[in-house]
Amino acid sequence: MNGIDGKTALVTGAGSGIGRASALRFAEEGASVVVADIATAEGQETVELIEDAGGEATFVEVDVADTDSVERMVDIAVETYGSLEFAHNNAGILTDFVDVTGISEARWNRIIDVNLKGAWACLKAEIPVMKSQGEGAIVKTASEAGLVGMPGLSSYSASKHGVVGLTKSVALEHAEQGIRVNAVAPGPTKTNIQSGLLGDGPGGSTPSLRDRFRTAIRLIRTAIRLIRTAIRTIRADYDTSAMRDVPMDRIADPEEIAGAVAFLCSSDASYITGHTIPVDGGQAAD
Ligand code: NAD
Repeated sequence: MNGIDGKTALVTGAGSGIGRASALRFAEEGASVVVADIATAEGQETVELIEDAGGEATFVEVDVADTDSVERMVDIAVETYGSLEFAHNNAGILTDFVDVTGISEARWNRIIDVNLKGAWACLKAEIPVMKSQGEGAIVKTASEAGLVGMPGLSSYSASKHGVVGLTKSVALEHAEQGIRVNAVAPGPTKTNIQSGLLGDGPGGSTPSLRDRFRTAIRLIRTAIRLIRTAIRTIRADYDTSAMRDVPMDRIADPEEIAGAVAFLCSSDASYITGHTIPVDGGQAAD
Protein backbone atom coordinates (compact mmCIF):
# COMPACT_ATOMS: atom_id res chain seq x y z
CA MET A 1 0.00 0.00 0.00
CA ASN A 2 1.25 3.50 -0.79
CA GLY A 3 1.59 6.28 1.74
CA ILE A 4 1.57 4.37 5.04
CA ASP A 5 5.31 3.80 5.57
CA GLY A 6 6.87 6.07 8.21
CA LYS A 7 3.57 7.40 9.56
CA THR A 8 1.62 6.82 12.78
CA ALA A 9 -1.49 4.66 13.07
CA LEU A 10 -3.77 4.38 16.11
CA VAL A 11 -5.98 1.30 16.41
CA THR A 12 -8.61 0.87 19.15
CA GLY A 13 -9.68 -2.61 20.14
CA ALA A 14 -6.24 -3.74 18.96
CA GLY A 15 -5.92 -6.43 21.63
CA SER A 16 -7.69 -9.03 19.52
CA GLY A 17 -9.58 -9.87 16.36
CA ILE A 18 -9.96 -7.25 13.65
CA GLY A 19 -8.10 -4.57 15.63
CA ARG A 20 -5.08 -6.82 16.20
CA ALA A 21 -4.99 -7.78 12.52
CA SER A 22 -5.23 -4.11 11.57
CA ALA A 23 -2.42 -3.12 13.97
CA LEU A 24 -0.20 -5.88 12.55
CA ARG A 25 -1.02 -4.79 8.99
CA PHE A 26 -0.21 -1.13 9.67
CA ALA A 27 3.12 -2.23 11.19
CA GLU A 28 3.82 -4.46 8.19
CA GLU A 29 3.20 -1.44 5.94
CA GLY A 30 5.84 0.49 7.91
CA ALA A 31 3.72 2.61 10.28
CA SER A 32 4.43 3.09 13.99
CA VAL A 33 1.36 1.71 15.73
CA VAL A 34 -0.46 2.83 18.87
CA VAL A 35 -2.20 -0.30 20.13
CA ALA A 36 -5.17 0.80 22.26
CA ASP A 37 -7.48 -1.49 24.18
CA ILE A 38 -9.36 -1.82 27.45
CA ALA A 39 -7.70 -5.23 27.88
CA THR A 40 -4.10 -4.61 28.94
CA ALA A 41 -2.62 -8.12 28.60
CA GLU A 42 -4.13 -8.63 25.15
CA GLY A 43 -2.98 -5.18 23.98
CA GLN A 44 0.54 -5.84 25.18
CA GLU A 45 0.50 -9.19 23.34
CA THR A 46 -0.27 -7.30 20.13
CA VAL A 47 2.68 -4.99 20.77
CA GLU A 48 4.92 -8.03 21.29
CA LEU A 49 3.70 -9.58 18.04
CA ILE A 50 4.51 -6.37 16.17
CA GLU A 51 7.93 -6.05 17.80
CA ASP A 52 8.71 -9.72 17.13
CA ALA A 53 8.02 -9.01 13.46
CA GLY A 54 10.45 -6.06 13.55
CA GLY A 55 7.80 -3.32 13.80
CA GLU A 56 7.31 -0.37 16.16
CA ALA A 57 4.35 -0.22 18.57
CA THR A 58 3.21 1.21 21.91
CA PHE A 59 0.32 0.05 24.08
CA VAL A 60 -2.17 2.51 25.59
CA GLU A 61 -4.96 1.39 27.88
CA VAL A 62 -8.25 3.04 26.93
CA ASP A 63 -11.96 2.77 27.51
CA VAL A 64 -13.40 4.34 24.36
CA ALA A 65 -16.66 5.04 26.22
CA ASP A 66 -14.77 7.49 28.44
CA THR A 67 -13.91 10.76 26.66
CA ASP A 68 -11.08 11.62 29.09
CA SER A 69 -9.50 8.25 28.49
CA VAL A 70 -9.76 8.76 24.72
CA GLU A 71 -8.21 12.25 24.91
CA ARG A 72 -5.33 10.78 26.91
CA MET A 73 -4.87 8.01 24.31
CA VAL A 74 -4.53 10.52 21.48
CA ASP A 75 -2.19 12.73 23.55
CA ILE A 76 0.07 9.74 24.22
CA ALA A 77 0.04 8.79 20.53
CA VAL A 78 1.20 12.27 19.50
CA GLU A 79 3.72 12.57 22.36
CA THR A 80 5.20 9.18 21.46
CA TYR A 81 5.42 9.45 17.69
CA GLY A 82 5.03 13.18 16.99
CA SER A 83 2.07 12.86 14.60
CA LEU A 84 -1.11 10.93 13.93
CA GLU A 85 -1.96 10.24 10.30
CA PHE A 86 -4.22 7.20 10.60
CA ALA A 87 -6.86 6.03 13.06
CA HIS A 88 -8.79 2.81 12.96
CA ASN A 89 -11.62 3.38 15.45
CA ASN A 90 -12.56 -0.23 15.83
CA ALA A 91 -13.31 -1.16 19.48
CA GLY A 92 -16.78 -2.58 19.85
CA ILE A 93 -18.94 -5.01 21.76
CA LEU A 94 -21.78 -7.30 20.69
CA THR A 95 -24.98 -8.23 22.52
CA ASP A 96 -26.72 -11.51 23.08
CA PHE A 97 -29.76 -12.06 20.88
CA VAL A 98 -32.68 -10.49 22.71
CA ASP A 99 -35.94 -8.83 21.71
CA VAL A 100 -35.95 -5.02 22.01
CA THR A 101 -38.33 -5.28 24.98
CA GLY A 102 -35.86 -7.47 26.84
CA ILE A 103 -32.85 -5.15 26.70
CA SER A 104 -31.94 -3.70 30.09
CA GLU A 105 -31.22 0.03 30.24
CA ALA A 106 -27.72 -0.69 31.51
CA ARG A 107 -26.99 -3.02 28.58
CA TRP A 108 -28.44 -0.55 26.05
CA ASN A 109 -26.32 2.26 27.50
CA ARG A 110 -23.10 0.24 27.42
CA ILE A 111 -23.60 -0.85 23.79
CA ILE A 112 -24.28 2.72 22.69
CA ASP A 113 -21.50 4.11 24.89
CA VAL A 114 -18.82 1.79 23.52
CA ASN A 115 -19.92 1.40 19.89
CA LEU A 116 -21.36 4.84 19.09
CA LYS A 117 -20.28 7.34 21.73
CA GLY A 118 -16.81 5.73 21.58
CA ALA A 119 -16.73 6.28 17.81
CA TRP A 120 -17.62 9.95 18.34
CA ALA A 121 -15.14 10.40 21.21
CA CYS A 122 -12.30 9.12 19.01
CA LEU A 123 -13.21 11.50 16.18
CA LYS A 124 -13.44 14.42 18.62
CA ALA A 125 -9.92 13.76 19.88
CA GLU A 126 -8.28 12.76 16.58
CA ILE A 127 -9.62 15.40 14.19
CA PRO A 128 -7.96 18.47 15.81
CA VAL A 129 -4.58 16.73 15.51
CA MET A 130 -5.18 15.78 11.87
CA LYS A 131 -6.53 19.25 11.11
CA SER A 132 -3.35 20.85 12.44
CA GLN A 133 -1.31 18.46 10.26
CA GLY A 134 -3.47 19.14 7.18
CA GLU A 135 -3.88 15.41 6.59
CA GLY A 136 -5.40 12.29 8.10
CA ALA A 137 -7.44 9.22 7.32
CA ILE A 138 -9.88 7.63 9.75
CA VAL A 139 -11.62 4.29 9.36
CA LYS A 140 -14.45 3.23 11.63
CA THR A 141 -15.48 -0.38 12.09
CA ALA A 142 -19.22 -0.48 11.42
CA SER A 143 -20.89 -3.80 10.64
CA GLU A 144 -23.26 -5.52 8.28
CA ALA A 145 -25.70 -4.80 11.13
CA GLY A 146 -25.11 -1.10 10.40
CA LEU A 147 -26.48 -1.54 6.88
CA VAL A 148 -29.45 -3.85 7.44
CA GLY A 149 -31.68 -4.70 10.38
CA MET A 150 -30.83 -7.73 12.51
CA PRO A 151 -33.67 -9.11 14.64
CA GLY A 152 -32.50 -9.73 18.17
CA LEU A 153 -29.55 -7.36 17.81
CA SER A 154 -31.41 -4.04 17.79
CA SER A 155 -29.10 -2.17 20.17
CA TYR A 156 -25.99 -3.34 18.32
CA SER A 157 -27.59 -2.60 14.94
CA ALA A 158 -28.69 0.88 16.11
CA SER A 159 -25.17 1.64 17.32
CA LYS A 160 -23.62 0.52 14.02
CA HIS A 161 -26.17 2.41 11.89
CA GLY A 162 -25.11 5.40 14.00
CA VAL A 163 -21.48 4.77 13.09
CA VAL A 164 -22.40 4.79 9.38
CA GLY A 165 -24.23 8.14 9.75
CA LEU A 166 -21.40 9.60 11.81
CA THR A 167 -18.92 8.57 9.12
CA LYS A 168 -20.86 10.32 6.34
CA SER A 169 -21.45 13.54 8.29
CA VAL A 170 -17.93 13.93 9.67
CA ALA A 171 -16.42 13.14 6.27
CA LEU A 172 -18.41 16.06 4.82
CA GLU A 173 -17.42 18.36 7.69
CA HIS A 174 -13.69 17.79 7.16
CA ALA A 175 -13.28 16.90 3.49
CA GLU A 176 -11.79 20.30 2.65
CA GLN A 177 -9.18 19.94 5.40
CA GLY A 178 -7.56 16.86 3.89
CA ILE A 179 -9.13 14.48 6.39
CA ARG A 180 -10.86 11.41 4.96
CA VAL A 181 -13.36 9.45 7.06
CA ASN A 182 -14.62 6.05 5.95
CA ALA A 183 -15.89 2.85 7.52
CA VAL A 184 -15.70 -0.86 6.89
CA ALA A 185 -18.75 -3.03 7.43
CA PRO A 186 -17.50 -6.54 8.13
CA GLY A 187 -19.71 -9.56 7.69
CA PRO A 188 -19.20 -12.48 10.09
CA THR A 189 -15.51 -12.56 10.98
CA LYS A 190 -13.48 -15.13 12.89
CA THR A 191 -12.82 -13.25 16.15
CA ASN A 192 -13.58 -13.55 19.85
CA ILE A 193 -16.70 -11.45 19.40
CA GLN A 194 -18.34 -14.08 17.23
CA SER A 195 -16.30 -17.21 16.77
CA GLY A 196 -14.05 -17.55 19.79
CA LEU A 197 -15.05 -21.20 19.91
CA LEU A 198 -13.09 -21.84 16.74
CA GLY A 199 -9.99 -20.99 18.72
CA ASP A 200 -7.96 -20.07 15.66
CA GLY A 201 -7.98 -16.29 15.73
CA PRO A 202 -4.90 -14.25 14.95
CA GLY A 203 -2.01 -14.05 17.32
CA GLY A 204 -0.16 -17.26 16.56
CA SER A 205 0.75 -19.77 19.20
CA THR A 206 0.20 -19.34 22.96
CA PRO A 207 3.38 -20.86 24.32
CA SER A 208 3.15 -20.37 28.06
CA LEU A 209 0.92 -22.38 30.38
CA ARG A 210 -0.44 -19.11 31.81
CA ASP A 211 -1.43 -17.90 28.34
CA ARG A 212 -3.05 -21.23 27.54
CA PHE A 213 -4.99 -21.11 30.80
CA ARG A 214 -6.17 -17.58 30.06
CA THR A 215 -7.22 -18.60 26.55
CA ALA A 216 -9.08 -21.63 27.94
CA ILE A 217 -10.99 -19.46 30.43
CA ARG A 218 -11.86 -17.01 27.67
CA LEU A 219 -13.09 -19.82 25.41
CA ILE A 220 -15.19 -21.31 28.21
CA ARG A 221 -16.75 -17.90 28.83
CA THR A 222 -17.39 -17.50 25.10
CA ALA A 223 -18.91 -21.00 24.97
CA ILE A 224 -21.27 -20.19 27.82
CA ARG A 225 -22.25 -16.92 26.15
CA LEU A 226 -22.86 -18.64 22.80
CA ILE A 227 -24.94 -21.41 24.41
CA ARG A 228 -27.04 -18.81 26.25
CA THR A 229 -27.40 -16.88 23.00
CA ALA A 230 -28.45 -20.05 21.14
CA ILE A 231 -31.08 -20.84 23.78
CA ARG A 232 -32.47 -17.30 23.62
CA THR A 233 -32.43 -17.40 19.84
CA ILE A 234 -34.35 -20.68 19.74
CA ARG A 235 -36.83 -19.43 22.35
CA ALA A 236 -37.35 -16.15 20.51
CA ASP A 237 -37.52 -17.99 17.17
CA TYR A 238 -35.40 -15.35 15.45
CA ASP A 239 -34.38 -15.78 11.86
CA THR A 240 -30.61 -15.46 12.07
CA SER A 241 -30.15 -16.71 8.51
CA ALA A 242 -28.96 -13.22 7.50
CA MET A 243 -25.86 -13.84 9.61
CA ARG A 244 -25.23 -17.27 8.15
CA ASP A 245 -26.04 -16.58 4.53
CA VAL A 246 -22.72 -15.46 3.07
CA PRO A 247 -22.48 -15.87 -0.73
CA MET A 248 -18.77 -16.80 -0.47
CA ASP A 249 -19.88 -19.51 1.97
CA ARG A 250 -17.31 -18.85 4.67
CA ILE A 251 -16.68 -16.34 7.42
CA ALA A 252 -13.88 -13.81 7.06
CA ASP A 253 -10.42 -13.91 8.57
CA PRO A 254 -9.67 -10.67 10.47
CA GLU A 255 -6.77 -10.02 8.08
CA GLU A 256 -9.29 -9.64 5.25
CA ILE A 257 -10.94 -6.75 7.09
CA ALA A 258 -7.52 -5.29 7.97
CA GLY A 259 -6.60 -5.23 4.26
CA ALA A 260 -9.59 -3.01 3.50
CA VAL A 261 -8.71 -0.72 6.43
CA ALA A 262 -5.11 -0.33 5.21
CA PHE A 263 -6.37 0.39 1.68
CA LEU A 264 -8.78 3.08 2.91
CA CYS A 265 -5.95 4.76 4.85
CA SER A 266 -3.44 4.50 2.01
CA SER A 267 -2.90 7.12 -0.67
CA ASP A 268 -4.40 4.58 -3.13
CA ALA A 269 -7.77 5.62 -1.62
CA SER A 270 -7.00 9.36 -1.74
CA TYR A 271 -10.36 10.25 -3.36
CA ILE A 272 -12.56 8.05 -1.17
CA THR A 273 -14.33 9.65 1.78
CA GLY A 274 -17.67 9.31 3.54
CA HIS A 275 -18.25 5.70 2.52
CA THR A 276 -18.89 2.48 4.34
CA ILE A 277 -17.34 -0.42 2.45
CA PRO A 278 -18.93 -3.82 3.08
CA VAL A 279 -16.26 -6.50 3.56
CA ASP A 280 -18.67 -9.35 3.78
CA GLY A 281 -18.18 -12.07 1.19
CA GLY A 282 -21.03 -10.61 -0.86
CA GLN A 283 -23.64 -10.50 1.92
CA ALA A 284 -24.75 -6.91 1.25
CA ALA A 285 -25.22 -7.64 -2.45
CA ASP A 286 -27.72 -10.41 -1.78
P1 NAD B 1 -12.99 -8.82 19.47
O1 NAD B 1 -13.84 -9.05 20.66
O2 NAD B 1 -12.03 -9.86 19.05
O3 NAD B 1 -12.19 -7.45 19.62
C1 NAD B 1 -12.76 -6.31 20.22
C2 NAD B 1 -11.68 -5.60 21.00
O4 NAD B 1 -12.23 -4.39 21.51
C3 NAD B 1 -11.21 -6.43 22.21
O5 NAD B 1 -9.79 -6.47 22.22
C4 NAD B 1 -11.76 -5.66 23.40
O6 NAD B 1 -10.95 -5.76 24.55
C5 NAD B 1 -11.81 -4.24 22.86
N1 NAD B 1 -12.76 -3.41 23.58
C6 NAD B 1 -14.02 -3.73 23.98
N2 NAD B 1 -14.58 -2.72 24.65
C7 NAD B 1 -13.65 -1.71 24.66
C8 NAD B 1 -13.64 -0.41 25.20
N3 NAD B 1 -14.69 0.08 25.87
N4 NAD B 1 -12.54 0.36 25.01
C9 NAD B 1 -11.46 -0.12 24.35
N5 NAD B 1 -11.41 -1.37 23.82
C10 NAD B 1 -12.50 -2.15 23.98
O7 NAD B 1 -14.02 -8.53 18.29
P2 NAD B 1 -13.84 -8.07 16.79
O8 NAD B 1 -14.76 -8.90 16.00
O9 NAD B 1 -12.42 -7.97 16.40
O10 NAD B 1 -14.50 -6.63 16.90
C11 NAD B 1 -13.91 -5.47 16.36
C12 NAD B 1 -14.99 -4.62 15.74
O11 NAD B 1 -15.54 -5.29 14.63
C13 NAD B 1 -16.17 -4.29 16.66
O12 NAD B 1 -16.52 -2.92 16.51
C14 NAD B 1 -17.27 -5.17 16.14
O13 NAD B 1 -18.54 -4.65 16.39
C15 NAD B 1 -16.95 -5.19 14.66
N6 NAD B 1 -17.53 -6.29 13.88
C16 NAD B 1 -17.17 -7.57 14.11
C17 NAD B 1 -17.73 -8.58 13.35
C18 NAD B 1 -17.37 -10.03 13.56
O14 NAD B 1 -18.07 -10.88 13.04
N7 NAD B 1 -16.31 -10.34 14.27
C19 NAD B 1 -18.65 -8.27 12.35
C20 NAD B 1 -18.99 -6.94 12.15
C21 NAD B 1 -18.41 -5.95 12.92
